[in-house]
Amino acid sequence: MDLSTLVELAYLASAVLFVVGLKRMQSPATARPGNALAASAMLLAILATLVDNQVLDWTGILIGVVLGGLIGAVAARTVKMTAMPEMVGLFNAFGGGASAMVAAAEYVRLQEAGALMAAGTGVTIALSLLIGAVTFSGSVIAFGKLNGMVTGNPVTFPGQKPVNALLFVVILALGGMVAGLLAVVGGLTPLTTFAVFSGLALLLGVLLVIPIGGADMPVVISLLNSYSGLAASAAGFIIGNMVLIISGALVGAAGLFLTMLMCKAMNRSLANVMFGAFGQAGGKAALASGEKKPVRSVDAEQAALVMAYAQSVIVVPGYGLAVAQAQHELKKVMDLLTERGVDVRFAVHPVAGRMPGHMNVLLAEADVSYDLLYDLDEINDDFKNTDVVLIVGANDVVNPEARDPQSVIAGMPILDVAYARNVIVVKRSLSPGFAGIDNPLFYMENTMMFFSDAKKAMSDVAKEVREA
Ligand code: NDP
Repeated sequence: MDLSTLVELAYLASAVLFVVGLKRMQSPATARPGNALAASAMLLAILATLVDNQVLDWTGILIGVVLGGLIGAVAARTVKMTAMPEMVGLFNAFGGGASAMVAAAEYVRLQEAGALMAAGTGVTIALSLLIGAVTFSGSVIAFGKLNGMVTGNPVTFPGQKPVNALLFVVILALGGMVAGLLAVVGGLTPLTTFAVFSGLALLLGVLLVIPIGGADMPVVISLLNSYSGLAASAAGFIIGNMVLIISGALVGAAGLFLTMLMCKAMNRSLANVMFGAFGQAGGKAALASGEKKPVRSVDAEQAALVMAYAQSVIVVPGYGLAVAQAQHELKKVMDLLTERGVDVRFAVHPVAGRMPGHMNVLLAEADVSYDLLYDLDEINDDFKNTDVVLIVGANDVVNPEARDPQSVIAGMPILDVAYARNVIVVKRSLSPGFAGIDNPLFYMENTMMFFSDAKKAMSDVAKEVREA
């Protein structure tokens, strides 16, 4: 078998392993091995590419691999779970930037060689650069908004949408020139046209992301992830690399599906996320009206007693559990209750937390068995037959206001916790969650508010359950 056949076979094997790896990410139980499989497939693809191109300077490559691997490993080990969206945002920026640079390098090479560019190559170069550059600058802004380096508030100015639309038209025209489909005007050299095109594409990425509120960034990051895949795929066409085309297309499709799933679980359209500034206007209006209503408040001892003498408890985890890092303490409480014969299960809403699968990862960290985790559809009918629902740091995902057509979260599927006999809500105050709106659940007769940091609350409840 000759070298090129071997390389093609290695690429085929990588592509199959990518698909199997992705498929295994469907369940928390198989996600880790799935990730490892996809990572080994990428290693195989990289090795095959190096062999195929008979890259001779191994020193540079080794330095790159060691440095890149080190940065990636340290980042992955030290990142906090709540900071995952911003890390993914930064990695998307690198992906988009790398694809844009591949396109730029190929363009400059072709120009310097004086080679006549085929229309197809020109179009893919322009596309890869445009999508890659938008992904790069958009992701950097998204990262900045999440970690506070850029304001999390939507940045708007008069005429923003027409300006963006005009910019897009100019970019398209310049892209046409870069691709050689349009004549170069005004005596611009091809390289100058290319530089202006690249600069404006970077500006477009910034302008597209600044009007979106920081709280919507996870959805935007998922969309930018999809873009980074498309840019990589286009780069694959430019350099004729099959595995880059396939892996880019997989990232593009997976990112788009994830974005759509997140929008569906929030009952919002993508257009609403991109242009709607959710959690800003509606939230402020809802809070301004905040007249004082009575709530029933309990302490650790009372909460422990209600649960210790129950037959069934459903736990609803939310963003506050992640912020407080209370998963281990929560697990202790659940173990103590289970020892007492209480039937304990977990109800996981698809957008609980700030990124898809956030709660699953958190609970897996605390060794909560996957068999105890139930999706919204699987468990929603069971609340009415449940003694106690324990809500730990969740708010929007249990807000009955979603049934009001006037609400900003109208139509968002919610966990029907209000039907349970008793509801215990652990949070620090009556403050709203991500959507910025009040939650009528807190004022219901069967609801007990346990005002505390989730970690302290769970550790206090564990003590009380032991003594009950
Ligand atoms: P929410 O943001 O609605 O509520 C979280 C609650 O946690 C807050 O009300 C806060 O109340 C409480 N909290 C914060 N810190 C602590 C702490 N240390 N101890 C105890 N409680 C704490 O979270 P949900 O999980 O219910 O809902 C997720 C929201 O995020 C949804 O609106 C969803 O649409 C959105 N979203 C989710 C994405 C995803 O992929 N998962 C992506 C984008 C958006 P207090 O301050 O009073 O303690």
